[in-house]
Amino acid sequence: MKKLNGIRLKHRKNTENSQTVEMPLPSKVRIPMSMHMGAPCQPLVKVGDMVAVGQKIGDTEAPFSVPVHSGVSGKVTAVTDYRTAMGAVCKAVEIETDGLQTISEEVRPPEVNDKESFIKAVRESGSCGLGGAGFPTHIKLNPKQKIDTLIINAAECEPYITADYREMIECPDDIIGGINLVKSMLGIKMAKLAIEANKPEAIKNFTEMAKNDDTIDIVTLPSSYPQGAEKVIIYNSTGRIVKEGELPADEGVIVINISTVAFLFRYVKTGMPLVTRRLTVDGNAVGEPKNVRAVIGTSFREVMEFCKVEMDAVKKLIGGGPMMGMSIPDVEMPVVKTSNALLAIKTYDERKTSSCIRCGRCVRVCPMGLMPADIDRAYKTKNIEELKTLKVMLCMNCGSCTYVCPANRKLAETNQLAKTLIPRK
Ligand code: SF4
Ligand code: SF4
Repeated sequence: MKKLNGIRLKHRKNTENSQTVEMPLPSKVRIPMSMHMGAPCQPLVKVGDMVAVGQKIGDTEAPFSVPVHSGVSGKVTAVTDYRTAMGAVCKAVEIETDGLQTISEEVRPPEVNDKESFIKAVRESGSCGLGGAGFPTHIKLNPKQKIDTLIINAAECEPYITADYREMIECPDDIIGGINLVKSMLGIKMAKLAIEANKPEAIKNFTEMAKNDDTIDIVTLPSSYPQGAEKVIIYNSTGRIVKEGELPADEGVIVINISTVAFLFRYVKTGMPLVTRRLTVDGNAVGEPKNVRAVIGTSFREVMEFCKVEMDAVKKLIGGGPMMGMSIPDVEMPVVKTSNALLAIKTYDERKTSSCIRCGRCVRVCPMGLMPADIDRAYKTKNIEELKTLKVMLCMNCGSCTYVCPANRKLAETNQLAKTLIPRK
């Protein structure tokens, strides 16, 4: 089967052998009520309340949302307005830690014995896609379509990031346990654990672990970007094409991130909701690049200090990978559920944008077979019919076209803006 297009990037997986280090408990956390895709939660606590580890501190009745829990014990000192890196506004709960880390009485293993109780437990866990997208896991795992294949996304194809890789090396039993849990609760026959070829140790370990299980298939993906994009990983693992306007479930598939599946296994065993996060800290301003586990709500400043970042030298701070990550405008912003990496960069090329020279490179690399240069032109004239014909809605904003463009045109950014012009059904 011919694999989809993509680009070769320098992997820069400098931290792949870095055992995850626990961050010291911060003196204060700031926990946003929106760390997931969907409606923000409303705070369930007020200033002066004492909270414990694992206690639910935010929730909403909106179906497309997940609750928020505290990762520390201590006193609520403020409930403030907060602007996320995506620009959304929500409330944030600030808690002064008491250092005791008292576990909440709410923390106990959920009763899970069928699909309904499992989906309910998944929501209560506060889980959302840990690969960075933040899609509520209980929605993803409960489609109305019949699912025959579970794909575990272990591509981690962006440069620098090794948080999922460390999950594979440090917690392989939780991953296999999580895959079997999801399969059995949802009645899915087959799981495909899809790993990029640049992670040979993980491929070897899981191949050995699953050698007597014909319901778990280890798939080796090419080491090219963006293997982790949903449509790409589905095609490269199963040969199925998710068409324009379709969801993976329409093709009988659910794709779940590898750290998410391991977390679900631990949650069902212990009842401890999602209150910590493993993230890779790297970039040329970082003195000690490593993987850390931080309590959600810890400030990026504390993470940077812990990893000996040259604070004054940082020119660019990115939450996530260099291709699809978000710029972090303020070091006091907190680690959230989707923070898989923090990149602190002190030198990078600032190239000038010039006119398109019609070299066709952007077309050649696009995994979706789109024509980014034509989309760029159609966007400039706000030609909505042309944008529809060019199938701009299929763009995954992977940034490959921008990366290869010799004229340094911001094609992926334009595509994102162009998509907003297309009326939603
Ligand atoms: S057009 Fe979209 S999907 Fe294609 S390479 Fe550019 S950003 Fe990626
Ligand atoms: S890569 Fe850049 S210069 Fe080349 S065709 Fe695409 S937009 Fe034009």
